[in-house]
Amino acid sequence: MDEQLLQIARSELLGADRLLVTSHIRPDGDAIGSLLGLGLSLQAAGKDVQMVSADGVPSIFRHLAGSELVSTRPEGHFDLIIVVDCSDLERAGNALNGFSTPDLNVDHHPTNLNFARLNLVETEAVATAEMLAGYLPTFGLPITRPVADALLYGMITDTLGFRTHNMTPRALRIAANLMEAGSDLPNLYHLALLKRTFEAARYWGAGLSALQREGRLAWTSLTLADRRAVGYPGRDDADLNNILSTVEEVDVVVVFVEQGNGHIKVSWRSLPGFDVSQVALRFGGGGHVAAAGAELEGSLEEVQAKVLPATRALLNRN
Ligand code: 5GP
Ligand code: MN
Repeated sequence: MDEQLLQIARSELLGADRLLVTSHIRPDGDAIGSLLGLGLSLQAAGKDVQMVSADGVPSIFRHLAGSELVSTRPEGHFDLIIVVDCSDLERAGNALNGFSTPDLNVDHHPTNLNFARLNLVETEAVATAEMLAGYLPTFGLPITRPVADALLYGMITDTLGFRTHNMTPRALRIAANLMEAGSDLPNLYHLALLKRTFEAARYWGAGLSALQREGRLAWTSLTLADRRAVGYPGRDDADLNNILSTVEEVDVVVVFVEQGNGHIKVSWRSLPGFDVSQVALRFGGGGHVAAAGAELEGSLEEVQAKVLPATRALLNRN
């Protein structure tokens, strides 16, 4: 990252008194980990910080210290507005409605639109949390135990436990620094990737029994009826996609999740050689080469009729 840009970010952060930190809708572990990591560090440095997540903090992340301080709407005015792990403003949801252009954008998505005044975007970083863990010492901000836990949790979730193809030695060194700051890696790993609710396991069952395959493409859907039948509370796929992407016969997996508002959430996962972020972008979404998403208007059948041919085309190109 450009040293000069980091120094500008440092002086703006240290010069501000009232700061707003927010992230993206349907937050994942890196969104919440980065939000808490930066927010709690600024608070520990004596700043007045509001941490906002338009969709709140999903219950699976509430074990993270400080998650109870996150609100769904900002109140008042701010000297500095920071958005973390979010590739575009639309994805911040209504958290920033009525506010001016964000000051600082910290993100690792290649599809980031550089929407802020200062854009710290590192596409080689495995998680936004990794970037923040690297920046905090440069900014003169503390890595307390809750900050380290939040950031390590973000790194674990975005790398599926340090096993995605974008892993780097730097990411492992940063994770080691966070362990030295007091984080319990095995415990965070268990909370992030292994522990499931009974409802989530049954919800997988619905998605697994509907699984289809055509050549090296597999897909399935999770309907509102599936969710109601098992009592699963979220609007996400309960991580099913990451399970399906371990199927040996396929290179690309797509999961369609009915949202209940006339929209379908589409999630892609791919093996090296297939850039699913390009397909997601075409449908108004974004993400990474190997993991991308989009939300489309329409019924399950309508959305599948658009998305599956476009995804097949990606496979046929290779
Ligand atoms: P997931 O499939 O787990 O929801 O998301 C996979 C990746 O794609 C994540 O990095 C996530 O940030 C990104 N992503 C998912 N949905 C959207 C979307 O609607 N818009 C954008 N820009 N990125 C998305
Ligand atoms: Mn991320």
